[in-house]
Amino acid sequence: MKERKGILIVVSGFSGSGKGTIMNRLLKEYPNIYALSISATTRSPRVGEVHGREYFFVSKEEFETMIQEKKLIEYAQYVNNYYGTPKEYVFQQLEMGKDVILEIEIQGALKVKEVYPNTLLLFVTPPSAKELKNRLIGRGTEDEATVASRLSRAWQEVQGVEHYDYLVVNDDLEECVQKVHSIIQNEHARVAKNHVLIETIKAELKGFAEGE
Ligand code: ADP
Ligand code: 5GP
Repeated sequence: MKERKGILIVVSGFSGSGKGTIMNRLLKEYPNIYALSISATTRSPRVGEVHGREYFFVSKEEFETMIQEKKLIEYAQYVNNYYGTPKEYVFQQLEMGKDVILEIEIQGALKVKEVYPNTLLLFVTPPSAKELKNRLIGRGTEDEATVASRLSRAWQEVQGVEHYDYLVVNDDLEECVQKVHSIIQNEHARVAKNHVLIETIKAELKGFAEGE
């Protein structure tokens, strides 16, 4: 008997480190293994972002109602906006055996780990701070002041990196995607994630030992 339970994974990293790009590739390559949680946010959509695909874009009032109705696993404020993870989709996908990825910032990551200690925490970084700035500017989606806020937020976030299980350097994109995939799939081999199989083998061995 084989029962593959989904793993809950949090991916954090500085804005501009390439999390979104990595997640896109991972989902394209392994659509049957992974599901990406879609967060709710009060920030405005960037050009090309679609409601219900990148985020659920909601008003501050709508977001606060979601908090009151306990519809979020966690939420946090990031550079003047709310961001949060809706519960329902995440648990539905885990039940179906999918490995569910939350791409969220550090305050949210630590809250998730506190409530669900088996969560795997990955932190993505570019090879250098200079490369981070280049990527943020190169993305061309934020004005100069927002790029500066995000870099200053990155400085705060790096202080919490030791709470994470793995550091993933996003230098060569393809290598990085494969590294993330391996880390997550290796997690399935943990003894603690294989109770059902272990109990089945134990029962069978007991039968042998008793001379069946
Ligand atoms: P995040 O989701 O972490 O904010 P993005 O995925 O939007 O970051 O990436 C920020 C910018 O860096 C984008 O313009 C993206 O195309 C670019 N980028 C991502 N990964 C790499 C990489 N390995 N090498 C070079 N540029 C990258
Ligand atoms: P962005 O505005 O660049 O899309 O996201 C800004 C930051 O918010 C990123 O660090 C992203 O990982 C984080 N974020 C996105 N969704 C959530 C969420 O649901 N909860 C929390 N805590 N952070 C989130």
